[in-house]
Amino acid sequence: MTRPSTAELAAWDHQYLWHPFTQMRDWLAEPPLIIERGEGNYLFDTEGRRYLDGVSSLWCNVHGHRKAELDAALQAQGDQIAHSTMLGLANVPATILAKRLIAEAPPPMQRVFYSDAGATAVEVALKLALQYWQLRGEPRRTRFVALTESYHGDTLGAVGVGYSETFHRFFRPVITPALRIDPPHVFRWQQHQTPERALELALTDAERVFTAHGDEVAALIVEPLMQGAAGMWAQPTGYLPRLRELTRRHGALMICDEVATGFGRTGKMFAVQHEGVEPDILCLGKGITGGYLPLAATLTSEALFEAFLSPYESFEAFFHGHTYTGNPLACAVALANLDLFESEQVVKRTGERACYLAGLLAELPARAAHIGDIRQWGLMVGIELVRDRSTRAPFDPALKIGQRVVRAARERGVILRPLGNVVILMPPLSISPDELAHLVQVTIDSIQIACS
Ligand SMILES: *Cc1c(COP(=O)(O)O)cnc(C)c1O
Repeated sequence: MTRPSTAELAAWDHQYLWHPFTQMRDWLAEPPLIIERGEGNYLFDTEGRRYLDGVSSLWCNVHGHRKAELDAALQAQGDQIAHSTMLGLANVPATILAKRLIAEAPPPMQRVFYSDAGATAVEVALKLALQYWQLRGEPRRTRFVALTESYHGDTLGAVGVGYSETFHRFFRPVITPALRIDPPHVFRWQQHQTPERALELALTDAERVFTAHGDEVAALIVEPLMQGAAGMWAQPTGYLPRLRELTRRHGALMICDEVATGFGRTGKMFAVQHEGVEPDILCLGKGITGGYLPLAATLTSEALFEAFLSPYESFEAFFHGHTYTGNPLACAVALANLDLFESEQVVKRTGERACYLAGLLAELPARAAHIGDIRQWGLMVGIELVRDRSTRAPFDPALKIGQRVVRAARERGVILRPLGNVVILMPPLSISPDELAHLVQVTIDSIQIACS
């Protein structure tokens, strides 16, 4: 089969498509870069040009593209069945995967509820928490506590807990806002506090909200260790365990959204494992299929699950599901993904790569005056660009400084995607040390060009 030419595809894109998180007026002003295939840590466009995938195809790719083991698992499951519903039926890969996920997950995780996007994993978590408290006879617990600028997906429930003024102000009338606590980053970066003082102030802020509202709180939801979409806001160790302690003291649940941090990204299988924190609910997505297929999961404790057990006619079941819940193709690939974590010791290797990367990053501020801050957990990095390093004054958004860095990197064969004025590095965990060095070199070159 011959495919349409690049020019035809570009024209059809401009005529028919609406891209996510994209100002389409800008998009329509220039021809799109169209990806045709991938190989390892590289993407290839329709003209055969090669690009290093510096953001893991939006934070989900783990082992690179066209990974033989994942391709084989997909093919093998395709020979059995592509999809069968989990409403009233079980299927083979979804069952085995549930057992494997629980074996990997931190205690007390015991139950797996599937869906198909990070946002839906969060919706499930929120609805489970709300229904749980009603079933437990504490109907007053209807509020959520969330971190300032946290991101939990784009469906309305997720937007309520992950509200960002820039992205979501048009939906404000219909969302239910969460109670906000400022994470340590706000105090450290915006208010120029020392790391120790920032942590202390963040804990005081959390304490204040729980003291005022503790008995109305259904759950605290948090992205552990790194608030990704906020612009990689790193949390110091010590913050998460104190939040856990606070929720326990006030009888609230703790939901950890590991959609971005899960599956080795931070140098442990799950970020909460750095701190020995045990959540009540864990949201997983992105890397769960190695970045191959849309699958997500909401994990819960057995105690939470048991609250939903009651006579049929009480109608207390969890009435939530999606057509493609537990999709066999996605689950089969997710199983092969977990096999690769074992056979290739991905978590250990990622820890080593992260150390190497930290060394490379440490040299950058001396090479570009506009680097204000570099934040890293594992292979998850944010480089914040500022107009003036001493005052931390930001660049004017109209300069689109992040976009300019991305453009310069693309001309040098590297795909990046910024978050405002923060340049994000989020390569596949399979990236080699040489490729990491190249990624960092192109990034610094591109920053110098964009800021000059
Ligand atoms: C990406 C992300 C989501 C949303 O996942 P989708 O699959 O895009 O719906 C939720 N939470 C966090 C922390 C994320 O990074």
